[in-house]
Amino acid sequence: MVIRNTSMSDRNLEQITEETSKDGTLQTLTKLIIDSWPEDTNEVTKEVFEYWNFRDELSNVNEISLKGEKIIIPASTRKNMLNKLHEGHLGIEKIKRKLARDSIFWPGINAQITDFISKCSVCLESRRSNIKEPMAESETPELPWMTVGTDIFYWNNNNYLIIDILKLRN
Ligand SMILES: [Zn+2]
Repeated sequence: MVIRNTSMSDRNLEQITEETSKDGTLQTLTKLIIDSWPEDTNEVTKEVFEYWNFRDELSNVNEISLKGEKIIIPASTRKNMLNKLHEGHLGIEKIKRKLARDSIFWPGINAQITDFISKCSVCLESRRSNIKEPMAESETPELPWMTVGTDIFYWNNNNYLIIDILKLRN
């Protein structure tokens, strides 16, 4: 039921099932979930150590590993997932909302999303072109009201129109 509730397509779920079966770490993890974890952290192998702290939240359903209600994505599918999450070049906050809806997880996913976005060439390019232009000084007009500057701004739940009359130089 948990898996039915995700927004993931059947094709994606199929791919995750297949890649999970080929993922050594997730196979070790599956075995631990079924057989139970060792008592001592020293007996936990390095590859699954990052799952130790939330081992009580882990389960297996239809050959897919879950952390709570989230699907654990096998390593080979993570890059693809990052690309999908960042489709349309959404920013970090929007992606995190999407992530909550998609119910996917892997250790270090948040840091990887941040890293992925910070390296996205399309986002870098658009950030560069959005850099504010330096303030342009205009010529001092010869007479009052000769030049009027207007702008709109939003502050404290109100919209404002600002009108600036460029003054004559004394
Ligand atoms: Zn981007």
